[in-house]
Amino acid sequence: MKDYKLDTLCVQAGYSPKTGESRIPGICQSTTFFYGDSQAMADCFDLKSDGYFYSRLSNPTVSAFENRVAALEDGVCAIGCSSGMSATTLATLTVAGVGDNVLISQACYGGTFNLFGTTLPKVGIECRFFNPDDSAENIEKLIDDRTKFILAETVANPAIVILDFDKISAIAKKHSLLFIVDNTLATPVLCRPKKFGANIVIHSSSKYLDGHAAALGGMIVDLGNFNFKGNPRYASFNVPDESYHGLVYADLPVAFGTKCRAQMIRDIGAIMAPMNAYISYLGCDTLALRMERHSSNAKKVAAYLHNHPKIEWVKHASLPDNKYHALAEKYLPNGQGGMMSFGIKGDVKTCAKFMESLKLITQETHVADVRSSVLHPASTTHRQLSAEDLVKAGVPENLVRLSVGIENPDDIIADLDQALAKI
Ligand SMILES: *Cc1c(COP(=O)(O)O)cnc(C)c1O
Repeated sequence: MKDYKLDTLCVQAGYSPKTGESRIPGICQSTTFFYGDSQAMADCFDLKSDGYFYSRLSNPTVSAFENRVAALEDGVCAIGCSSGMSATTLATLTVAGVGDNVLISQACYGGTFNLFGTTLPKVGIECRFFNPDDSAENIEKLIDDRTKFILAETVANPAIVILDFDKISAIAKKHSLLFIVDNTLATPVLCRPKKFGANIVIHSSSKYLDGHAAALGGMIVDLGNFNFKGNPRYASFNVPDESYHGLVYADLPVAFGTKCRAQMIRDIGAIMAPMNAYISYLGCDTLALRMERHSSNAKKVAAYLHNHPKIEWVKHASLPDNKYHALAEKYLPNGQGGMMSFGIKGDVKTCAKFMESLKLITQETHVADVRSSVLHPASTTHRQLSAEDLVKAGVPENLVRLSVGIENPDDIIADLDQALAKI
C-alpha cells in the first residue's frame, strides 16, 4: 500500500476486508470484546498480541481511520483522539511533565494558544512562544535541556503563516529535539511534513479530513523517524515503565506511539468515538479531490479580492506578492488550501453590513469543510477586545476570515461581489 500515490491512499488505505466482510469498515459500537481464553486476553494486555479488548484503548472502526491517516502521512502509527485539542494535549503529556518546557509558534490556532498559554502551565509545563518569522538564532535561544519539542502549523489558522520547515527542522535536529507539526489546514494531500523533517504530526480531523463538518476528531501520527534511545532529553522513554510491566519505550520500534497509547490514552481516555471515526474515514475518500478544488477556488477568490477597490489587503499564499509565497511554492506546490483572510476598507460596522449581505456564504465558527463560510473575529470570537488589542492579537477590526468551500467558484465570487457592492 505504501508505494501508492496519495490520491490512491485516500480511497484505499486503512482497511482491507477479508472474504465476505463488509467493503467499508463497519461501525463497531461496542465497549468490549469477547475472549474465550484468558491467556489470549492476557497477551493483549501485555502488548504481546494486538487484539481488541476495550474500546478506550483501541477499536476496529477507529483503527481503520488511524491506519488510513498513518498511511497518508507515511507514519508508523496513528492514534485517534476525541478532538484536535485532545490530540495536542495527549501528544504533549506523552513527553512533557512538571518543570519541562515546550516551544510553540505564536501564530498557532487560538485553541492551541490557550492550551499552552493558560492550561498546561497550571500543571507545570511551561510554554515558550516564538515568532515563526524570527531567525533560527533567536528561536534557538529559547531551548534548554528541559525543552521537549517545537510545535508549529504547516499553514497557521487563521494567520495563514506558512511554516519554514527547513529552518525549524535544522534547529530540532541540532538539539535532538522532537519537531511536531499540526498539519490540519494543509492535510497530507498538500504537504507531508515527514519529507521536511517533522517527527510527529497532529491533526484536527474535524476540519478537512472529515471535510463535511460532521464529526469532531483528532489524530496523532508517529512518523517513526526519531531516536529516543539514550537521549537524555527523553529520560522517561529510557527507563522501565512500572505501570506497564517495565516496558522501555525507547527500545520499541514505535516508541512515541506506544507510550502515547499505553499511558495517555489508557489513563486519560480522550478517544475518538467509532461513529466519528467512520464518518471521518468516509470523508477521507474524497480528500485529494476536495483539496484540489479548495485550493483552486481559493486562488481565484484571492485574486478577485486582491483587485477589489473596497478590499485593503488579502492573505493567501497563492498571491505572488504574499509574504509566504516562496515558502508555499517550496512546501505546498500543489495548492495552499481554502483558508484566507482579508481586510475590508472600513470599520466593524462596514464588516457587519458585508457579512449580513452574504447569501450563499454563511457565518460560522467552523472552517475547512465543503461549504464556504466566513467569520468576523472582531464582532464574534474576539469581541471583548479593544481596537488596539485586536491589532496586537493580529486580528484588526476589519479582518474577515474566509474558508473557501468546493462550490462553483463563480458563485462564491458573485456572492462576495454583491455583498461588497452593498457597503
Ligand atoms: C480546529 C483546529 C484545532 C483544534 O481542533 P478541534 O478538533 O476543534 O479540537 C487544532 N489545530 C488547528 C490548526 C485547527 O484548525
